[in-house]
Amino acid sequence: MKNKELRIKYQLSDDISELRAEDQELMRRAREALKGAYAPYSGFQVGAAVRLANGEIFIGSNQENASLPAGLCAERVALYAANAAYPDVPVEALAISVHNPKEPHLQPATPCGPCRQVLEEAEQRFGQEFPIILGGDGSQLLILPNASTLLPLAFHADFLKKDSPS
Ligand SMILES: [Zn+2]
Repeated sequence: MKNKELRIKYQLSDDISELRAEDQELMRRAREALKGAYAPYSGFQVGAAVRLANGEIFIGSNQENASLPAGLCAERVALYAANAAYPDVPVEALAISVHNPKEPHLQPATPCGPCRQVLEEAEQRFGQEFPIILGGDGSQLLILPNASTLLPLAFHADFLKKDSPS
């Protein structure tokens, strides 16, 4: 038996001006997108903004439903809209911000499990990694270098391929 170890690298910042100008703008758009959240059940609002390699930005917010699994997270709303409009253009960066109207959520929140799988496949699909910038009601930002950082040993589409031609 071999012992293996996985390490991840990420950045923390308390100053948004440390980000590249286009990433500052992306986080601003994610925070603006919070206004479109429909979160009557959790009260937890999430906004997301995806920038594609062609410069187009798509926003999303969490959309909850009384049938809970029918709802969708902000990052998937934004990513699917971007992929639907430009199916051949890779993602360049993603920003996500959270807000709790009842009590400030100062720390950034990280994406849920299913979103991690979707983001990871967005990298696999185009063979291009993209940074994920996370923010909350406070000034702290958490910056991940790529989606695969969020989901080590992920399930890949390759697993679905047959081993030999039929
Ligand atoms: Zn999610």
